[in-house]
Amino acid sequence: MTANAMETSLNYIGGEWVDATEHDVVRLPYDDTPVGRVPRAGTGAVDQAVAAARRASAAMRELANCERADLLMRVHDLMQRDLAEFGRLICAETGKPVKEAGIEAERCLSTLFAAAHEARQVRGEVVPMDFAAMGKGRMAVTVREPVGVIGCITPFNFPLNLGLHKIGPALAAGNTVVHKPASKTPLSASRLARTMEEAGVPKGAYNLITGGGSTIGAALAAHADVAMLTFTGSAEVGRTIKARSGLKKVTLELGNNSAVIVEPDADLATAAVRTVQGAFANSGQVCISVQRVFVQERVADEFIDRVKAATEALRIGHPYEDSTDISSLIDETEAVRVENWIAEAVSRGGVVVTGGRRSFATIAPCVLTGVPDSCDISCREAFGPVVAIYRYRELDEAIQRANATPYGLQAGIFTNDLGRAFRAARRIEVGGVMINDVPAWRADHMPYGGVKESGMGREGPKFAIEEMTELKLICWKV
Ligand code: NAD
Repeated sequence: MTANAMETSLNYIGGEWVDATEHDVVRLPYDDTPVGRVPRAGTGAVDQAVAAARRASAAMRELANCERADLLMRVHDLMQRDLAEFGRLICAETGKPVKEAGIEAERCLSTLFAAAHEARQVRGEVVPMDFAAMGKGRMAVTVREPVGVIGCITPFNFPLNLGLHKIGPALAAGNTVVHKPASKTPLSASRLARTMEEAGVPKGAYNLITGGGSTIGAALAAHADVAMLTFTGSAEVGRTIKARSGLKKVTLELGNNSAVIVEPDADLATAAVRTVQGAFANSGQVCISVQRVFVQERVADEFIDRVKAATEALRIGHPYEDSTDISSLIDETEAVRVENWIAEAVSRGGVVVTGGRRSFATIAPCVLTGVPDSCDISCREAFGPVVAIYRYRELDEAIQRANATPYGLQAGIFTNDLGRAFRAARRIEVGGVMINDVPAWRADHMPYGGVKESGMGREGPKFAIEEMTELKLICWKV
């Protein structure tokens, strides 16, 4: 990929392009080169965007299922036409390797396709009123109705696909949206607003505001005319948002420190390769990144050797290079934090098997063993390219240690014994378990979300539509 021209954009409110008096410069995290400039919206823009979304609500809820599906497919088709440009912007704003940015852009198509498909299926059900004697002589159906204005607040790590996981289902269900992307990664969302305009999305149905989380994000969360807030980001901010959002519906997709268990009968070659891919994709800045691996002690040495070899084969470099596997974190501050966590683990007896060196915002993928359970790496979310491998004797012990975390998003287990796999799957406290794969695996149409401090509610268009609609009962006497 060649270097980007400076990308400048405006906010999109009520179908108009709106500037602000102040602006933020977007930088390539790898070396801090400026790559874009966006408005730093204030709380007045939040009021305008919510008012525009409110005005558009009546028109959106009048659209038929098939009309909303067609609308989303027009967005899908235009994104497909411009896919290379979307990939280039994701790469520039996040600093993720260009090949990974391309994968995210492709996945946006799959998310939009699923949202369009599910738009056709929005429906209620027949209620058997004569279930009880008091219902005799009555019939009833439920219908699903849009909630109204939905505030969407999204993180930096998959800036476009995680936005579409909210925007797609919200529009599919007949809602309107005010979207606030992460302040470090507003460029692909700004480009999406142009696609929304070109696709003919009704004015005010999709509104984009860029700026700070603690200013416009907080104002959006607290706004009285926002019916529902859907947030993806850290548990810390999720907690603040929930506290500010009053009686609104809220869904929260938060962090994790994902565990994977490797049983002695597992295919070790596959388990090791998938562990490395699952730990280091996007430099570990994935909410379901593999962070803690529990490997049965009889196969631990062989597994660690395989993980080491696969890690050292990764190519570290500039995100614009096609050959780069690993590039920077989102900024130098985050890289320094991860470096400190590695140092803490080592100072308390952990051993670096490979990696861990930092150059500006980039950290060489790091494999650790012997890390005490009380270290940050063991018990908090690392959100960086570091994985800790622990030995266990009995499966029960591994499950107990996998569960010894405040989080619960996804987990994985490698074993050829399906009985053991299913028993473990039922006992691990998470929203999704991958048997014979890493927790980092996700398809965009599947139900996705966490338990405990990993959040509440589910995404995946079919399931997000359930969250983003209200059931209405219509009952009649016959
Ligand atoms: P973050 O919580 O710092 O920010 C997320 C969004 O919230 C951004 O748009 C930010 O501007 C906004 N924000 C910040 N302070 C706010 C406030 N006071 N009020 C309202 N909005 C505010 O998260 P991040 O650093 O962008 O992303 C990393 C985190 O996201 C990790 O914890 C990761 O696990 C999580 N994540 C979860 C999922 C999931 O599906 N569960 C997916 C991706 C990322």
